[in-house]
Amino acid sequence: MQDFSEKIQQVHNEQLGRHLVANMHIDAGDTLLEERPLLVAPHWECSQLKCSQCMQESYVMCRRCQVFPLCMDCDQHSDFECEFFASGAGSAICKDLLVKNYGICALLKLLLLLEDPATRDDCQSLVERPVKLEDYRDGEGMWQEHEEQVVRPLLASGLAGAMPAQQLTADVLHAHCIRIDCNAFEVTGRDGETLKGVFVCGAGLPHHCVPNTVVALDEQFNMKLYAAVPLSAGDVIYNSYANPLMGTSQRQHQLRLSRHLDCSCSRCRDATEMGTHMSSMKCRECSAGFAICELGPDGSGDWRCLDCAAVQPAADVHELLAEVGGALVEAKGELQVYESLLVRYKQLLHPNHFLLLDIKQNIASILRAAALMNSMETPCKKMLARRVELCSDLLPVCRAVVPGLSKLYAIALFEYLLALIELIELQFAESDLSKKQYAAQLRIGSQVAREALDLLRFEPENSAEGYLSDRISMELERIDSDLMKYGGR
Ligand SMILES: [Zn+2]
Ligand SMILES: [Zn+2]
Ligand SMILES: [Zn+2]
Ligand SMILES: [Zn+2]
Repeated sequence: MQDFSEKIQQVHNEQLGRHLVANMHIDAGDTLLEERPLLVAPHWECSQLKCSQCMQESYVMCRRCQVFPLCMDCDQHSDFECEFFASGAGSAICKDLLVKNYGICALLKLLLLLEDPATRDDCQSLVERPVKLEDYRDGEGMWQEHEEQVVRPLLASGLAGAMPAQQLTADVLHAHCIRIDCNAFEVTGRDGETLKGVFVCGAGLPHHCVPNTVVALDEQFNMKLYAAVPLSAGDVIYNSYANPLMGTSQRQHQLRLSRHLDCSCSRCRDATEMGTHMSSMKCRECSAGFAICELGPDGSGDWRCLDCAAVQPAADVHELLAEVGGALVEAKGELQVYESLLVRYKQLLHPNHFLLLDIKQNIASILRAAALMNSMETPCKKMLARRVELCSDLLPVCRAVVPGLSKLYAIALFEYLLALIELIELQFAESDLSKKQYAAQLRIGSQVAREALDLLRFEPENSAEGYLSDRISMELERIDSDLMKYGGR
């Protein structure tokens, strides 16, 4: 299932539990771990039946067991899984178990892996991981969903009686559900739907908001973990389970909900968020100053201006953030609404504030979609220029929050490249740019494309990022041939 590089080793300590450390110098891009998923399954709330083998949409049941769906391309699924319901211990279980409650699929698959002597060992390090149920019970988030979608229907099906050795109680099932959620990466199925891939090792790495590794997933859901930055002997191998474009308070909220984790990493402890000021406010007293959160021991504190020391109480800041968050939900994809939100809140938030970045990303994606729709007509230069500006605003922040080899930054560069090339081609066609000016802009485009390709060079060919690399290479070829024509090299 897993293949560890000889450059890392597994160690154990009180704070992190079992984890991995580098045992020698590691270069950026070096593969640290390769792993096949323990199982791939739809999210709990999924109601669309999917083929048990390849996870494509399917409406047909396996003829032998009549429990698991199979698609037109697959003629069989796991032997044990099939046999268990066809003639084994589970043959008496009602055949529409999955049809009625497809959400239980991930848990059902895990229980069958545990039941099968051939695969039981593969699951051990996952199911051995202790789960403090009292931290989750009655809490916000996942407990209720697990209870309704998975635990209750599964117990009602009588399956527990067919697997007596596992002593399946509601608490055991809840603990399994939590382990599945905490050890899953979102993977994309062949039909484009998001699924969860459960990885025993790769998804159990300790969290850091500035990860030193990159997770690559290919089309067969195989995972490759590689170093994002050079590592030294003794460095802990970290992964990130939070969106790097969220501010500290948002990331921490997300981590608490999804993983019951209180992060106190270097980024979380740095009120400037690595110099990006993604959570900083504009000072209300002086015109040029920015206020950062004075982190108390409990992680909360008032915002104080770095220039004039004026204080903005935490309650006021939180109220404002909730207001902007609400307005973003209300905006419902309306371009003009986003633009006016941007004008209004630019007065109050740092230009790199995560909420302003969110608004800008929304505007840029509306403009991109609009450009695609009108591809036959003349795209408006003003709109294109606006898109270039918004995409370029995002670049320094993406660069700062995910150092080293970064898919996030590569994608941001690509978005910027597309907008830039569209704009300058139009400007050149309409004689707004001279040959020399056009060539100078093309040179910038060529550099951006090369930088993006460089960041993606360790991604597998048969992955979304691999295809993105092909796309960027094509763009680069076009740019370079235009450069030959107009600028010489
Ligand atoms: Zn299939
Ligand atoms: Zn079957
Ligand atoms: Zn953190
Ligand atoms: Zn001030």
